[in-house]
Amino acid sequence: MATKYSIPRGTYDILPDISYRRIYVEQMFYKIAATFNFKQIVTPIFERSDVFERSVGDTSDIVQKEMYRFTDKKGRKFALRPEGTASVVRSYVENNLGMAGGATRLCYSGPMFRYDRPQKGRYRQFYQYGVEYLGSDDPMVDAEIIALGHRYLTALGLKNFKLEINSIGSANCAKDYDAALVDYFTPHLDAMCRDCRQRIDKNPKRLLDCKVASCKAIAKDAPNMLEYLDDDCKTHFTAVQRYLAQMGIPFSVNPTIVRGLDYYNKTAFEFIDTNLGAQNTLIGGGRYNGLVAQFGGKDVPGIGFAGGFERLMLSMETEGCFFGEEPRPQIYFVALGNAAKVAAAGILYRLRSQGISAEYNVEKTSMKAQMKAADKSGAKGVLILGDDELKDNVVVLKWLETGKQKRIKIDNIAEELHPE
Ligand SMILES: [Zn+2]
Ligand SMILES: [Zn+2]
Repeated sequence: MATKYSIPRGTYDILPDISYRRIYVEQMFYKIAATFNFKQIVTPIFERSDVFERSVGDTSDIVQKEMYRFTDKKGRKFALRPEGTASVVRSYVENNLGMAGGATRLCYSGPMFRYDRPQKGRYRQFYQYGVEYLGSDDPMVDAEIIALGHRYLTALGLKNFKLEINSIGSANCAKDYDAALVDYFTPHLDAMCRDCRQRIDKNPKRLLDCKVASCKAIAKDAPNMLEYLDDDCKTHFTAVQRYLAQMGIPFSVNPTIVRGLDYYNKTAFEFIDTNLGAQNTLIGGGRYNGLVAQFGGKDVPGIGFAGGFERLMLSMETEGCFFGEEPRPQIYFVALGNAAKVAAAGILYRLRSQGISAEYNVEKTSMKAQMKAADKSGAKGVLILGDDELKDNVVVLKWLETGKQKRIKIDNIAEELHPE
């Protein structure tokens, strides 16, 4: 049969044969986040476009090329969210979440949208998880956020990843560094891509993480941020490393990690899969002091990270990680004859009300066909009901693995399946 409709390019369906895996990794995320006392926040998938333009930065790829924008019937400008942090900070300010003072720990997951060239593990509608900690500039918090990412990857059974950290400085010291970058890159600009030539004035740090090979070759010898950090940033970065060491979390310092978005400062970090090739960042994050003030709130410091479920699950597959049990019915109901079929409706409903997952096949009538379907379903046990059993108010319970079977009272099925 010809397909009349097809899915939009760069999107995918999460089909029932693997959806339990997605549920597993997502539930694990919230479980680990809860052990750090992070609470879920859910924001809309679209916002006024300036929520992203101003925060993510209008020189970023995301805003310049990849945002899904639309205008509503009243001419208001919106965008599908390309990332999570801007929406969370918008909500934090709008709802006065920081009013009580102290820390606000938030976590989220959901679809994000970028008009990007689709490639393996990269989609136009993709799913991210992330955390945001608002309310402290203490380096112990940076280490805690990094530790949460580390815990999550470890809890999923991943082993082949490494943590790289950097400090990209604050407004104070980044100025000198930006000037040094402009000095360094200006004589090379003719050999660099159009994006780099455009960005050098607004955000010269972005030239450090350009993916174009010729730009990469030039960026390799650029000045090192760590040599430009002022005392405050240096002390902060040293403390982050001390806390990580205290937690026993291995890391290395990589001065080329700048993160793609404008709002980052001080600590930046990435968890990198050491199996995969090019697209290998599992989790990326950093500090964004000043972002809350930019949204009209008080000058509350913040730090967070985000990661994509797609890449995470690719890594888990590569490493043969456990994805949770594939759900299957506990019992399969085989009804022989019309009277048994009618009785089965009531029995099935009562079993399901008692928390027992049950399946049956209404299209098949013969014993053989129904038993075959039971085998295929993966059910542990089969309940067989024919006219004889119905007369005595019993069913035959057959365990598929051992072949053992016995007659049990219909009223006692749940007890037999769930012996206390
Ligand atoms: Zn600084
Ligand atoms: Zn470039």
